[in-house]
Amino acid sequence: MKKEPDQRKIASLVRELLAELGEDPERDGLAKTPMRVAKSLTYLTRGYRQSLKAVVNGAKFSSDTNHMVILKDIELYSLCEHHMLPFYGKCAIGYISRGKVLGVSKLARIVDMFARRLQIQERMTEEIADAVMTEAGAEGVGVVIRAKHLCMMMRGVEKQNSEMTTSAVLGTFRSDEKVRQEFLSLIG
Ligand code: ZN
Repeated sequence: MKKEPDQRKIASLVRELLAELGEDPERDGLAKTPMRVAKSLTYLTRGYRQSLKAVVNGAKFSSDTNHMVILKDIELYSLCEHHMLPFYGKCAIGYISRGKVLGVSKLARIVDMFARRLQIQERMTEEIADAVMTEAGAEGVGVVIRAKHLCMMMRGVEKQNSEMTTSAVLGTFRSDEKVRQEFLSLIG
């Protein structure tokens, strides 16, 4: 786990950045901006300072059935590591437990932990799948993320309506076609 960033150092870097961009960091509207940006970036990257163990915090329940558990429409907000611009969308997670299930809010917190870092969508999808697989001791996991990337919408190709879909399947979700189909039809 990483240490807390030095807010004053970030603020002073943001002040330099503003000046280099042609702004006057001392003008009224910008006077408090560097410290606001420092706090905001610290918050948006708090996933670096969280651990899976602390996030799940023992919230595992016994369950004798081994049915598929699905949680969909989990909102996520992240920053792309190429441009440090936001990407945002929704995540669906499905898994088949082996006698243990995770609390529903914990799935959302796992998504958040990986989203609150500099990310690429493909890697984040895999990290979430691995984390659920390990923490739930699942026999299979599927994760699908659909997201819009501001770096594509505001700059570059300016494709305002394009959405990127990524998926990761592990265990029986990978090996068993029927399981995978059930997952995909349940998440719609
Ligand atoms: Zn980007």
